[in-house]
Amino acid sequence: AKFADAGLHPAMLENIAMAGYKDPTPIQQYAIPAIVLNNDVIGIAQTGSGKTAAYMIPILSKLMGKAKKWAGVRPDPGSQMAVTAEPLVLIIVPTRELAIQIFNEARKFCYRSMLRPAVVYGGGHMNAQRELLSRGCDVLIGTPGRLKDFVVRADRTLSLHRLKYVVIDEADEMLHDDWHDELSPILNAQQQLGAMRYVMFSATFPKAARDLAKEYLAEDHVRFR
Ligand code: AMP
Repeated sequence: AKFADAGLHPAMLENIAMAGYKDPTPIQQYAIPAIVLNNDVIGIAQTGSGKTAAYMIPILSKLMGKAKKWAGVRPDPGSQMAVTAEPLVLIIVPTRELAIQIFNEARKFCYRSMLRPAVVYGGGHMNAQRELLSRGCDVLIGTPGRLKDFVVRADRTLSLHRLKYVVIDEADEMLHDDWHDELSPILNAQQQLGAMRYVMFSATFPKAARDLAKEYLAEDHVRFR
């Protein structure tokens, strides 16, 4: 399989070439067409398999096709309301290090588009991150605790009403006994449930991951390892 045959946006194919990726990895060969065809997806994959690009490439490619409609909507700077980030994609990851790594991957693949990535994580200054979000973003990467802080705060810094995709990456690393406390407020906050697509990657597939999939992913989701 080739990237060029996967039904991707021409701008995404240019970004892939610029990243120096010649051929898709096995996990990308499964995930990219499945996501392009609007399936919810569970990939059982380790770091190093190319799992980040496996969801980043098809999701951003789909949004590029809708760029005029969805992307680049900036908050009105003259508005009296507090300005708001309204991402189209939310990528939830367990650690700050991974969040930053994925943000860098997102930057590569947003390049020839109006899509703007942003990253928030615990330990970073809340005010600096609020300021960053207030400039608007389309692809938001974050750790669960900090994302929850912005979601439950309800001060209009972050709104999930435009969300089209939720990615839960390294899911097994986040699914401690109390995973519901942090993830549920985030996952239950969006209002477009019908149109929402969910993608989950996990190195292992323990009961908590199966429970999360059952609660949020479509019954006919595509699963592979
Ligand atoms: P990941 O498993 O997402 O952490 O990716 C592992 C590494 O592989 C990262 O440095 C990626 O930039 C790189 N990578 C991902 N997909 C490809 C590909 N198709 N060709 C070459 N390198 C890739």
